[in-house]
Amino acid sequence: MRLGARSDIGRMRQVNEDSFLAGEGLIAVADGMGGHQAGEVASRMACERLGEMLPVWPHDPAGWLLSVFSDINSRIYNMSLANPSCAGMGTTLTAAVFLEREMYVGHVGDSRAYMLRGGQLKRITDDHSVVGELVRSGSLTEEEARFHPRRNIITRAVGVEPVLVPDVIQVSIAPGDYIILCTDGLTEMVDDTEILGVMMSSDSPQAGADSLVRLANERGGHDNITVVIAHVA
Ligand code: MN
Repeated sequence: MRLGARSDIGRMRQVNEDSFLAGEGLIAVADGMGGHQAGEVASRMACERLGEMLPVWPHDPAGWLLSVFSDINSRIYNMSLANPSCAGMGTTLTAAVFLEREMYVGHVGDSRAYMLRGGQLKRITDDHSVVGELVRSGSLTEEEARFHPRRNIITRAVGVEPVLVPDVIQVSIAPGDYIILCTDGLTEMVDDTEILGVMMSSDSPQAGADSLVRLANERGGHDNITVVIAHVA
């Protein structure tokens, strides 16, 4: 599996509150929220904890993701209660575990996982956001959602409630597939058709990640931008 990753502060923000993990068999992105850099703390805690859990390699990846998300949720929630500067912090978390010819995606928030196969880009995750729900119910188009004033309000996050249940999605993978994880700093600036175009003209996962981040910045870079790409061998 070849990996590529890039995280960038963008052009408008003072800090990068995104974090990522790009490990053999486990990749993730997290987009933190909360004042005074607490979001940075939350997203980093999520990715570090995922990395620490790697030695306990899952035979049951779906169950493993449920328990790891629950563990990370408790840690961030407890730290936000104990530390006034971290009050209310939270993070999105989208994590993909690869086991033989299956991928398991744990997901909370409005970061995304995509699969590119045979020239088609398919979105694997649902956005847990106000506008994401309106798109799924047919009240908004994708394009309207990207420019909606409430587009940044997420309906589920890691670390803000005592109990969290993530989405866990199982997808079969095949050699040649690209898996793309990204934060909303990419998808707010670059639509799915453009993501596909960049990927089709990139010859490695790292080149793809670099080009997607560059394009989001060329469009204005309103938010932190993080992209992790895995190419299935
Ligand atoms: Mn963001």
